[in-house]
Amino acid sequence: MVEPFHRYAAESTADATTRSAESSRGSDHDRVSPAPLVSALQIPACCFDQAGDVISINDAWVTYAGLSGEALSQRQWIELIEAEHRYDALSALRAVPAFSDRTEIKCRLDTRHAEARWFVVHLHRLDAAWLCTCTDIHDLMANTRELEHRASMQTDMLNVSVDCIKLIAPNGTLLHMNRAGCLALGVGEDSGFGMPWLPLLPEDIWVQGEAALNIARTGQFSRFPGRSVVPGQPPQYWDNMLTPILSATGNTTAIMCVSREVTRERAALDSVQRSEERLAIAARVGGLGVWDYDIALDVLHCDENWYRIVGRDPNTPIVSIDAFRPLIHPDDVDKATEVEKTAKELIASGQDYGIEFRVVRPSGEIRWVRSVAYLQQEDGVARRAVGFMVDITDARRAELALRDENRLLEDEKASWRRQSLEDSLTGIANRRHLNEALDRICRGEARSGTRIGITLIDIDYFKRYNDRYGHPAGDRALRLVATALQACCRQSDFVARYGGEEFMIVWQDIKNPVPLLESVGNAIRRLDIAHDASPTGQITVSCGCAVFDATHPNLSAAWLIQQSDEALYEAKSLGRNRYVVREIGR
Ligand code: GH3
Ligand code: MG
Ligand code: MG
Repeated sequence: MVEPFHRYAAESTADATTRSAESSRGSDHDRVSPAPLVSALQIPACCFDQAGDVISINDAWVTYAGLSGEALSQRQWIELIEAEHRYDALSALRAVPAFSDRTEIKCRLDTRHAEARWFVVHLHRLDAAWLCTCTDIHDLMANTRELEHRASMQTDMLNVSVDCIKLIAPNGTLLHMNRAGCLALGVGEDSGFGMPWLPLLPEDIWVQGEAALNIARTGQFSRFPGRSVVPGQPPQYWDNMLTPILSATGNTTAIMCVSREVTRERAALDSVQRSEERLAIAARVGGLGVWDYDIALDVLHCDENWYRIVGRDPNTPIVSIDAFRPLIHPDDVDKATEVEKTAKELIASGQDYGIEFRVVRPSGEIRWVRSVAYLQQEDGVARRAVGFMVDITDARRAELALRDENRLLEDEKASWRRQSLEDSLTGIANRRHLNEALDRICRGEARSGTRIGITLIDIDYFKRYNDRYGHPAGDRALRLVATALQACCRQSDFVARYGGEEFMIVWQDIKNPVPLLESVGNAIRRLDIAHDASPTGQITVSCGCAVFDATHPNLSAAWLIQQSDEALYEAKSLGRNRYVVREIGR
C-alpha cells in the first residue's frame, strides 16, 4: 500500500496552505495546464498532483506500462515506479528543497511487459503539480553494468596473478595495481592509488627505474631489476617489464609494468656466483689454471690463470688443441695432446687424467706443468674434459735439487764407508773390513766342504828398515807390498792390512795353500826392495797360514786370527822369510 504522497513531499505547511488556497481558486491550474505538454511528449510522461494522484499520463507511458490510460490515471504516481525503487523515489522527491523545483532519479518503471526498463525520471515542480518525464537509459545501464562486470572480472584476474601488475600513467603515478603489487609495496588495495610509483621502491633503484620509465614513455619496451622491502620481511627481487600502451597516434597513454618475482632465482644465482668466486679464488691462490675442452667439437676454453701459467695473453685465446700444440715443448707434444688415446685409456682404467709436461713461454722460458682432468663421458665415449693446470716448475726444481743433494749424500756415505773400510796408506781393506769378512766366514755362509785359508803376513825386520831408510821409505815399502799381495790373489780372495807391517789374506775355497804361499813369497821377493839390515838384503815376509773347513764348529774371527798368528810366530821362530801352514779339522 502506498502512503499518501503529501506525507513525503518536502513542503512547508505554509506553502501547502498557500498552494491549496491557490488550487481551490483554480487560477494556476487554469494558467498552467500540463496535459497537452504531457501528451505531446514522445517519452513516457505524466503529471501528478500534490497528493501524488496522476492527473494525466501520455501514450508513451501507456505503451510502456501495457495498461490503459484510464487504469494508470487511477494510480498514484509512485505506483508507476517499480516497487523495488519506490522508497528511493519518494525519498528523492521529499529531499527536494523548497527553493528548488526539480530532481531526478534513476529507477525502473513498472510494466506488465516482461522487462521493466531503466529510466532517468525527471521531476519538475509546476506550482501545485509535478511534471514527470522519463528518459530511457536501459541500454546505457546495461552497457555500464557490462563494463562494470568486465572491469570487476579484470580486477579479479589481475588479483589472482602472482606477478605484480601495475598501470602507470606517463607522468609516473600509479593508476592501478593488483593485489600482489599492493602486498609487495605495502599499499592498501582500497587506497585509490594516484601516488607516484617509483618512490614506493627502494631509493637506490630509482635511477634505473626512471631510465626504464623514460624508455617506455617513448613507446618502447624496457626492463630493469627491482627490489621491494616491506618492513620486517626479507627483501624481494623483481624483474620489472615495462610495456607502453599506445594510442592510435602512437603516443604512450599508460605503461603497464609486470614485475615477476625472481628472489629464488636470484638466490640460486647468488649461490652459484659465490661458489664460482670461491672456486676462482681457490684457483688463483692455488695457482690453478682451469681449462675446459669439448672433445667432440675440439673447443678449448681456459681461464686467466691458465694463460698466466703458459705466459700468453688471454685476449688472443687458444681455442683448440692445434692452437695449444705450439705452446708445448716439442718432446712433450704427443704426451700432452693425445686426447683420444688418453681418453680411451682413462675410460678403461676408470681414473682421472694427470700428466706432467713442459710448456714454452714466448720468452723461451720453459715451465713444467701438471695437468689434471676429470673426463665426462656419454655411453662410454668421452665428450668433455674439465681440469686444471698447475705450474710445478719450482717444485720440480726443488725435487731435482733434493735428488742431487741425496745423490751427493749417498756418494759421501759410500765414500765414507769406503774410507772406513779402507786402509789410508795402502788403499787395501783395513782391519775393520777384515773383521767383517771374517765374521761372514764365521757365520758359515760358505757351502759345506769348502776349505778356507787365512794367512797372516808380517814383513821381516821392518823396524830396522824404517831405521835404515826412514819412515817415508817404510810407507812406500808398505804400499808396494800391499799391491804385490793383491796382485797374487784371485778376485774372490780378500787382502787386508791387519796393522803396522802385517797383512792378512783370506783365500776362499782352496785345496792346497802351499802354491799360494809360495806365490806370495815370490811376489815380495820380486819387488826386490833393498833392505841392508836384513840377512837376505831385501824385504821379505813371513807367513802363518791356518786352513780350515768353512763349517768348522769352533769358527770365530779371534780364534782364526789366533791360529794364523801362532803359525806366523812359528815361521818367525824358524828364521823368517818362510811360511808355516796349520791345517785345522783334518
Ligand atoms: P820381525 O821380523 O820380528 O817382525 O821384526 P820387526 O822389526 O819387523 O818387528 P817389530 O814388531 O819389532 O817392528 C815393527 C815395525 O814396523 C815397527 C814400526 O816402526 C814399523 N811400522 C809399523 N807400522 C808402520 C807404518 O805405518 N809405517 C812405517 N814406515 N813403519 C811402520
Ligand atoms: Mg809385526
Ligand atoms: Mg815384522
